[in-house]
Amino acid sequence: MTLLWPNGSTTIPHVSSEFNLTRKHPITGVVKPHRGIDLTGWSTIVAPVSGVVTVNAYQAGGAGHWVEVRADNGDRFRFFHLAAASPLHVGQRVTSGTAIGQMGASGSATGVHLHYETWPAGKTAINPREYYANNQENDMPLNNQDLISILTAKFTLTQNGKSREVSVQEMLSAIVFYGDVLNAKIDRLATAPVDTAELARKIVVELVKETA
Ligand SMILES: [Zn+2]
Repeated sequence: MTLLWPNGSTTIPHVSSEFNLTRKHPITGVVKPHRGIDLTGWSTIVAPVSGVVTVNAYQAGGAGHWVEVRADNGDRFRFFHLAAASPLHVGQRVTSGTAIGQMGASGSATGVHLHYETWPAGKTAINPREYYANNQENDMPLNNQDLISILTAKFTLTQNGKSREVSVQEMLSAIVFYGDVLNAKIDRLATAPVDTAELARKIVVELVKETA
């Protein structure tokens, strides 16, 4: 599935208030878990994934006009404080990017924003940042344009002091050819959780030292 943020983007919109299970409610002052994040900065809220509308309701003094979408895998997404009732009806199918409604301040809200909740199947709400970290990468495969740009990229390879431009295929064969050397370094230098950019930097530092 393609996983979008409710602004239709794959990058997180502006966050005005974070997920916080021990937050003081901004209006009542009472400690009240904030089971979502508050997002601002655009108008039309869209479905993050394909699924079905499971709630389209109004809660005075709370969620205001709100909608729940259940993804085909059972994960649920909640959208609070819409400007008006969503035009979608319960049971209606949506796909990633379908408009759900307009951002507003209905119910208990100090200003126009979207309160956004992510509920993994069979679980309570988790921080949407965590949900996206867990799901977005795997669910956003490279598109053909990305693949073409990788496969046609040119790299500068220096061998025995001579530089030449090579294709990604040549780079891959060089990496495979020297794979044992690299693997040994990866085993030694990789720390959990592996940050690949940091790992590559460490390997380069080590190779430079060996070369000097
Ligand atoms: Zn909120």
